[in-house]
Amino acid sequence: MTSTWTEPANTALSLLLLGRDTDPASERGVDCPGDLPAPSDPDLVARATAAKAALGDRVFVLGHHYQRDEVIQFADVTGDSFKLAREAAARPAAEFIVFCGVHFMAESADILTGPDQRVVLPDLAAGCSMADMAVLGQVETAWEQFTDLGIADDIVPVTYMNSSADIKGFVGRNGGTVCTSSNAERALTWAFESGSKVFFLPDQHLGRNTAVLEMGLTLDDCVLYDPHKPNGGLTAEQLRAAKMILWRGHCSVHGRFTLDSVREVRERVPGVNVLVHPECRHEVVRAADQVGSTEYIIKALDAAPAGSAWAVGTELNLVRRMALAHPDKQIMFLDRAVCYCSTMNRIDLPHLVWSLEELVAGRVPNQITVDPDTAHHARVALDQMLALP
Ligand code: SF4
Repeated sequence: MTSTWTEPANTALSLLLLGRDTDPASERGVDCPGDLPAPSDPDLVARATAAKAALGDRVFVLGHHYQRDEVIQFADVTGDSFKLAREAAARPAAEFIVFCGVHFMAESADILTGPDQRVVLPDLAAGCSMADMAVLGQVETAWEQFTDLGIADDIVPVTYMNSSADIKGFVGRNGGTVCTSSNAERALTWAFESGSKVFFLPDQHLGRNTAVLEMGLTLDDCVLYDPHKPNGGLTAEQLRAAKMILWRGHCSVHGRFTLDSVREVRERVPGVNVLVHPECRHEVVRAADQVGSTEYIIKALDAAPAGSAWAVGTELNLVRRMALAHPDKQIMFLDRAVCYCSTMNRIDLPHLVWSLEELVAGRVPNQITVDPDTAHHARVALDQMLALP
């Protein structure tokens, strides 16, 4: 069986447009200061190739799975956020780490790499809307509330890798751990051995899906803490009774898949396997055939038999690449509408060329640094994750 990739329809929300004004309190909407080459410049590929060759082993380019093809072609390694940060740490000889991903990933790379290595994010506007949904001041306010209620000592904070260095630092300071979508169940098992409650940041869906589908908790064991409501919108009794206190954050890309997306593709493609990321809503994950991280999704599609059909609920760049890599399998996007991660797509060839050429010229553009105190505590939380049984 041979299939061809069908691009989902464009919608008004296909690329959620972000502002261009400076907003230092947010990962989003920060202008890139670069004097960028024109996207129409026919020499962009040659310029990126030449700049990378001129830098040689001094530069190491990381490409997240959700990046554009035009950028991925220049990546020395591809992977999810944690794999990429570890790859950077494993290359101490590389003076410059050019991180083609989003801001929190570059922060993690800065924390895990040596003091002489400098991490560059080709476009400062490449943030993550989920990471932005948990701001340190909000989280500290919630923790004060838990302390006043006398339950903070029972709570172990766990943050998803997709969070700012500030939040990882908060978790490290308070005896918690970082987790990824691959090890969330192990992180929660460890946390429940250390305390009777977990405060899960910032992705409510990964927290709920892991607690209910992998840990045997019920939906009633979980409460949703809304930082925009007084006391999180929860009573003292609800917080005392809860086992999982979920932060009200989500991924704007994976959160767009619905039960209707699953029903529609099952009607349209008999026998289709629905494969989704755990950042999807609980009802979508329940309705799917398989759930797993981006690395899991890639392995599952690589191993799938020829002729099988797969509707995949994750970012479109990755699904399209997998479909093109496996023309003998029918791999399609779970939804009929386009669903890119708009901030990942901020990194394009002009930004990459500009970053590499600046490095060649002896200037370090868009360096991402984490202050030493935050980095220390975030490292504690990251090391705890590495030590998970
Ligand atoms: S796909 Fe979702 S979690 Fe990942 S960077 Fe984009 S908004 Fe953030």
